[in-house]
Amino acid sequence: MNQTNLRAAPGLTSLIGLDRAELAAALVEIGEPEKGAKLRAKQLWHWIYHHGASDFAQMTTLNGPLREALAEKFTLARPEVAREQRSEDGTRKWLLRFEDGQEAESVFIPEEDRGALCMSSQVGCTLTCRFCHTGTQRLVRNLGAREIISQFFVARDSYGEWPSPAGGRMISNIVMMGMGEPLFNYENVAKAIRIAMDPEGISISRRRITLSTAGVAPLIERCGAELGVNLAISLHAVDDDLRSEIMPINRKYPLAQLLEACRRYPRASNARRITFEYVMLKGINDSPADAKALVQLIAGIPAKINLIPFNAWPGAPYECSSAEAINEFAVIVNKAGYSAPVRAPRGRDILAACGQLRSDSVIAKRSAQSSQSRPAAAPQAVLN
Ligand code: SAH
Repeated sequence: MNQTNLRAAPGLTSLIGLDRAELAAALVEIGEPEKGAKLRAKQLWHWIYHHGASDFAQMTTLNGPLREALAEKFTLARPEVAREQRSEDGTRKWLLRFEDGQEAESVFIPEEDRGALCMSSQVGCTLTCRFCHTGTQRLVRNLGAREIISQFFVARDSYGEWPSPAGGRMISNIVMMGMGEPLFNYENVAKAIRIAMDPEGISISRRRITLSTAGVAPLIERCGAELGVNLAISLHAVDDDLRSEIMPINRKYPLAQLLEACRRYPRASNARRITFEYVMLKGINDSPADAKALVQLIAGIPAKINLIPFNAWPGAPYECSSAEAINEFAVIVNKAGYSAPVRAPRGRDILAACGQLRSDSVIAKRSAQSSQSRPAAAPQAVLN
């Protein structure tokens, strides 16, 4: 059976995304005595998050009547995969459609024998960073914990990586770098990350999980203390004027406040550096003077700089810096003692690279409407 195409029957409540206490409550709801519910919840947890069960009938450690009672009320169906694309470089992108019809994308970026799943935290994004395609999407809402962790289920289903392998995993890392600002949806993101980290389930170590933020300074410290995952900051500019222009969130949390939060990030150390992401925009933020200002700005923070060549999208107001400019920038940052890898763009051909995610449900629906009166030119690169 193709698990990713499992769809929930109407009226059934999904158990994916529930924590142990909520699973116990679900069991009590279907008549399981309170006394045994905790143990049963532990078993259920193991089936859902370790085995990736998609059917209650698989749960052989639960008795038959309980399995039937569960199936009457609950489901383990994954969200609908509205579209799956594969890049020529192996990158895969899933457009997931949730129960209310809203959509979000996740991207798997494979290396030779491992890979990172880039998950979304919101449908669309409210940040409106000028270089980012996701911010041009009109519809925005938070994803629930279930919708966030479901992205992982869909990816793992398609690699058949259940039960959670002890080692040698293809989907070895998680990056919260998809659509949305994870720290604007902290509770749901935190819940999903806790599920992903739990050693009795999906079991991805906090060292293999990275949360990227545009700089919601007040929540950065909390994220470090409560989740302890790796932190990435979308920096992109070294002075407040430019940063506020290209990233409006900077008006609320300017650079000084953001960097102060980074300095206090609980687990930052040389072994666990903070990643500063820096998108290379031609003639905007890519001069040698910018590079020098960058190293001064982050002085004292255990850090690495990820230089991201700007990925274009239809109608984007910027161009990518030249290879020479990126190289010169990297040399300056390197000389100051920071590693500054240039992130190789992955999945550009399927608009799966950084900043290119955007569920095209809005575009698609609009062009479907307009096609009733006149044939609409479908934006091919997006609709694919
Ligand atoms: N809102 C969070 C999570 C999104 S991560 C954040 O801002 O960190 C997506 C990353 O891709 C961010 O670093 C973002 O700034 C970067 N990005 C956005 N648009 C891009 C583009 N067109 N080209 C390259 N990187 C881009």
